[in-house]
Amino acid sequence: MTPLLELTGLVKRFPVRDALGRRAGAVHAVDGVTLSVAEGEVLAIVGESGCGKSTLGRLMLNLITPDAGTVRFAGDDLTKLSASALRARRRDMQLIFQDPFASLDPRMTVEQAVAEPLRLHRIVPKDQERARVADLLSRVGLRPELARRWPHEFSGGQRQRVAIARALASQPRLIVGDEPVSALDVSVQAQVVNLLSDLIRDLGLTFVLISHDLGVVRHVADRVAVMYLGRIVEEGPAAQVLGAPRHPYTRALLAAVPGHGEKAPPLEGDVPSPIAPPPGCRFHTRCPFAEARCRAETPDLDAGPHRVACHLADRLPPPAGRPARLAGGARLQRLQSFFRAPSPQPGVPQ
Ligand code: SF4
Repeated sequence: MTPLLELTGLVKRFPVRDALGRRAGAVHAVDGVTLSVAEGEVLAIVGESGCGKSTLGRLMLNLITPDAGTVRFAGDDLTKLSASALRARRRDMQLIFQDPFASLDPRMTVEQAVAEPLRLHRIVPKDQERARVADLLSRVGLRPELARRWPHEFSGGQRQRVAIARALASQPRLIVGDEPVSALDVSVQAQVVNLLSDLIRDLGLTFVLISHDLGVVRHVADRVAVMYLGRIVEEGPAAQVLGAPRHPYTRALLAAVPGHGEKAPPLEGDVPSPIAPPPGCRFHTRCPFAEARCRAETPDLDAGPHRVACHLADRLPPPAGRPARLAGGARLQRLQSFFRAPSPQPGVPQ
């Protein structure tokens, strides 16, 4: 498949200053990330808080400028586009934020908020705006007559639906969702996840889902990239990364998901400071398999559709609870049940 988005060698550091305003170091937010997203694909980027995944999402949309590397969207290097060409490209790329309340202007009605991108990018003539807004609201499960209301009159789930309608208004080719359901009540999360997966399927969207919640990722992702301290440590088809993880960090993340069945040593200690990441493999301070080489040499991602950055990936013992005899039909059955989508929730959309 042709990549719609190609990231090559992306690096982003944020300067840290001392009390006197002098530069005292830098946060290594993203460090040498190379990834691509095919048209119509759903890529999930997972990892703990502070691993750099939100910064990577903003780099993808050129909302922040990388210190090194390139971001190509439909063949254009976004970092080299003129301001006017970049403005025109913005129509094709949208971001859904974690907090729907913060992403909607409280001084705009829902109709004004959804109509704004229609007007900005001249999507429809002015006399058709109201009908298009009504259509977009229906698409996200909201009654069109709610358009005259203000954001504060909606529940969190409804506000996120409005934010999704606003993101869809410019008919984008790529949407980046930065933890789009994590601020919602658990009871509402499944409804919004189902809405997103229906929209992705029906509109053929290319979607990058940034999430720390593997339960959400497994319902929508075609491919998964696992980030740790600014680097991709494992990447590949979702069924392989989530069903047969190769990196000790991915194993530990999956072991923490209730009901997944992966048995791996629990993660110990906190994520090291991104201002001074550990040398060699950045995960070595928490890895139960670390050896001398891990502390000295940085592992690169290997080749193939399911890539991993670990010196010992091919020598690690199978996790307890994932015995070899499950490799046949029982294993397949477990995977199928793991990847089964949640049932749609009845009732009025939140
Ligand atoms: Fe663990 Fe070494 Fe692999 Fe890093 S390279 S994940 S420390 S075994």
